[in-house]
Amino acid sequence: MSMMNKIALSFMPLLPKSLVYQFAKRYVAGTTKETALNAIEDLNKKGFVVTLDILGEHTQTRHIATEVTSDYIDLYKQIHKRKLNCNISLKPSHIGSDISEEIYNDNLQKVIKISEETDNFVRIDMESSKATDFTIKSFINEKNKGFNIGTVFQAYLHRTFDDIANLDPRNLNFRLCKGIYKESEDICITDRSKINDNYLKILRFAFENDIYVGIATHDIKLLESVHELIGELKVDSDRFEFQVLYGVPMHGWNQKHLDSGYKVRVYVPFGKDWYKYSIRRLKENPDIAGYIIKNLFSK
Ligand SMILES: Cc1cc2nc3c(=O)[nH]c(=O)nc-3n(C[C@H](O)[C@H](O)[C@H](O)COP(=O)(O)OP(=O)(O)OC[C@H]3O[C@@H](n4cnc5c(N)ncnc54)[C@H](O)[C@@H]3O)c2cc1C
Repeated sequence: MSMMNKIALSFMPLLPKSLVYQFAKRYVAGTTKETALNAIEDLNKKGFVVTLDILGEHTQTRHIATEVTSDYIDLYKQIHKRKLNCNISLKPSHIGSDISEEIYNDNLQKVIKISEETDNFVRIDMESSKATDFTIKSFINEKNKGFNIGTVFQAYLHRTFDDIANLDPRNLNFRLCKGIYKESEDICITDRSKINDNYLKILRFAFENDIYVGIATHDIKLLESVHELIGELKVDSDRFEFQVLYGVPMHGWNQKHLDSGYKVRVYVPFGKDWYKYSIRRLKENPDIAGYIIKNLFSK
């Protein structure tokens, strides 16, 4: 990261939120359900499918966890009503796992019920390594009941390959990402090329065991290797989908995937808690942080 961008990032918390929003808005589909649903409609028209996420995590009260759950229920209804091609991704801690397992389970049951009623799907996002066991257990419990549900595995964790190999591959459906949380070296691989090696090892295992995978990455070099693997194993295009975050530049790869007949799912986050998420996105793309500062001083 250049010195200029490092300085830009350290300035960020001092900037007015309205200014940060001008740059952050490329990564979030607004702050209301209406703006999010309209963004999904636009993406569907362009040939993308979507997974929708209400921004927020680590909910501290039962009241808020219930409110978030009600918002998800309403979204499933709206998605169904507007015939959108969109499922839901949610974070366990957003619907109450930090408060109690009981509150989380009650809320998850409500989400699953409406998802089943509207013929949809729930993806449980993976949070930090503190939540890995809990999330896998929760996913398996619901999967075993026959619900249409998936989770996420992170290629940077040492444990992930074994976690997946120990599961029953039948009807398994996971998103594979590198992992975004800060973890210590005993828990995660830190070398970027070794993370990619592990990503490809897990992906090979998934393809060889006919597991449906959401290939979630913006790393073009990794994508090139993924394509080689798909070619080598002659994987049918209905056994995977590509997944990207809303607004992240893909240098033509999304269109290339659509043109090749592959499914591309855009992860669309929205909501009033846009600030923390956007700062994280901006840190991953510090050029944009640099623009913000330049804009500020050139006005
Ligand atoms: C659909 C989707 C869902 C995800 N769900 C989870 C989850 O449940 N749990 C979890 O831990 N992580 C999740 N992640 C995040 C993931 O773990 C990575 O941290 C993130 O995608 C960056 O890794 P990368 O594979 O894109 O490769 P990198 O090598 O980190 O990035 C490749 C290139 O893309 C650019 N880039 C990457 N991300 C961004 C960004 N956000 N903004 C701007 N530029 C960017 C970088 O500048 C870099 O040039 C998800 C990612 C995606 C795409």
